[in-house]
Amino acid sequence: MMLENMRLDRFTRDSRVVFFTGAGISAESGIATFRDPDGHWSKYDPMKLASQAGFQEDPELVLGWYADRREAIRKAKPNAAHISISNFQKLFRHSIVITQNVDGLHERAGNKSIYELHGNIHRHKCNGCGKQVELSNKKMRMLNYCECGGKIRPDVVWFGESLPLQMINEAFETVSSCDLMFTIGTSAQIYPAAQLPFEAKSKGAYVIEINPEPTPFSPKADLSIHDDAGSALPKFYEEIHAQLN
Ligand SMILES: [Zn+2]
Repeated sequence: MMLENMRLDRFTRDSRVVFFTGAGISAESGIATFRDPDGHWSKYDPMKLASQAGFQEDPELVLGWYADRREAIRKAKPNAAHISISNFQKLFRHSIVITQNVDGLHERAGNKSIYELHGNIHRHKCNGCGKQVELSNKKMRMLNYCECGGKIRPDVVWFGESLPLQMINEAFETVSSCDLMFTIGTSAQIYPAAQLPFEAKSKGAYVIEINPEPTPFSPKADLSIHDDAGSALPKFYEEIHAQLN
């Protein structure tokens, strides 16, 4: 089986486990970054749709793009990989999810302890003071203002913006003390998040990569599986579950 070379005896229910996920796991639910079924948004430059400069230039365009994405995400469902993570989290007492995705599918699948490094598309915040703001679905397409005068924007990290410092620090701390890490559907090319599997590996964790294509991390991984997460992760779960019970 898949795990014949993996030393399972080192893992227990008390092992600290991290699931690190990227766009690939969402793509398996039909959510593609910067593409949409009818192609309307494909003609726009992603830099215009997801940057501070683009928002300043044409806020309604940006809000319209996010409103459409939100609708597409609502219609999508968590897939077998998200559900596997929930099953794993019942098996391992200390496990967390670190995601680069903003779609909230981990939460909808019942995953726990989720670090959303790039924010969450379903939340809004003030572009000025940073305060989180609740908006009704109706209002999301229009430009709204905070009481401080700032424009309300999606609470996601745009091109050119830094990841929330405290969260990225906690993510690094967590992976540096984990025993097992799954890196799932991420091309390992966007820093600093791409550094996380390297950090885990350098601190002695066993790191399993699942991604359809090889990545810069593949040569370092203890196990690198080139497959869809929805197919590979449930198999890992079955094998590890059988070993631990
Ligand atoms: Zn404000």
